[in-house]
Amino acid sequence: METNSALADRKVMNQVKNVPFIDLRRQYFLLKEEILKTVDNVLSSGSYILGDVVETFEKKAAEYLECKYVLSVANGTDAIILAFKSLGIGPGDEVILPTNSFIATAGAVAAVGAIPVLCDVKDDLNIDVDKLDTLITQKTKAIIPVHLTGRPADMDRVMAIANHYSLSVIEDAAQSIGARYKNKMSGTIGDVGCFSLHPLKNLHVYGDGGLISTNNEKLYADMKILRNHGLINRDSCLKWGLNSRLDTIQAGIGTIGLSYIEQWNKQRRNTAKTYSEKLKNFVHTPIDKEYEYVVYHNYVVLTERRDELMRYLLERNIETKIHYPIPIHLQSAAKALGYKFGDFPIAEKLASQMLSLPIYSELREDEVEFVIENILHFYR
Ligand SMILES: *Cc1c(COP(=O)(O)O)cnc(C)c1O
Repeated sequence: METNSALADRKVMNQVKNVPFIDLRRQYFLLKEEILKTVDNVLSSGSYILGDVVETFEKKAAEYLECKYVLSVANGTDAIILAFKSLGIGPGDEVILPTNSFIATAGAVAAVGAIPVLCDVKDDLNIDVDKLDTLITQKTKAIIPVHLTGRPADMDRVMAIANHYSLSVIEDAAQSIGARYKNKMSGTIGDVGCFSLHPLKNLHVYGDGGLISTNNEKLYADMKILRNHGLINRDSCLKWGLNSRLDTIQAGIGTIGLSYIEQWNKQRRNTAKTYSEKLKNFVHTPIDKEYEYVVYHNYVVLTERRDELMRYLLERNIETKIHYPIPIHLQSAAKALGYKFGDFPIAEKLASQMLSLPIYSELREDEVEFVIENILHFYR
């Protein structure tokens, strides 16, 4: 019942009165039968950790990502931590990352005792590759480009610099599953790619989850051991590891999602296209380069009247968000790193101008129109 009405709702123009930033239930109602069947299969099997269902998910994810190996893990942050551990990055090492990202990118660096070295971003919200050279020291071990909002970072430049200085590259692809950079899948260009399956991400499960991608057999084998306590079999521990396995139930759900992710990303791209066409004369809208396939985890506009616009929309029951209002270098947790306001002027300017509009695969056309109408009203 709900499945059919949710489908029909995408087309029917009923009177829109409010637009929440996201409504995760819609996707669940669409997939309900498939999901409950999978959950029942796993629960009935009596095997709830690792096993065939997990292996199938990893194999299908590797096929989708066009890379050799994929490992499922407990969350996207652990994916980054496991990448560091397998690459031997730890106490005293420096890792360069953009200051405009979700805090987990820096948190993962700190979690292994390494030092987050922050970098400014460009107007496309991604790491400013022109500034990388100036940040590299004897202690630098890795760069983490973040493909923020589902837009790939400038990977050719990142890889060239990393190769020149013999640095590892860990792609934070938490927001970019399915995004392409020059026909390559995001997360498969550097040494390791890290994905999140958190409910808010384009491909998600019903709880926490993550994926690691790599073409390096040695790193894969190492991370596989590390995600399961460092055990090589039931009784023998090779090295200290984590408990960071993806629940078998979630792997079953993730496998279902994999068969829809291309379609979901297309729906996000359609919404983004409509927003851009209608709003480009009023706010700064994102611009896709011809060699990138952006999957619009977030759709971010820039405006000097951001706070005013956000309030105006909220009064009309349209929920927007800011990704992210406080750059990492200005977070309390980062205090010991010694940064101050003024260090990264572009990120700081963006923090005051960015506004994320509602975007998700089940967002209806009439809801998109409602958001647009209200933004146009604000500017007129
Ligand atoms: C979501 C996210 C993460 C962390 O993923 P979790 O699964 O929540 O641990 C890391 N980096 C970025 C850019 C993210 O958006």
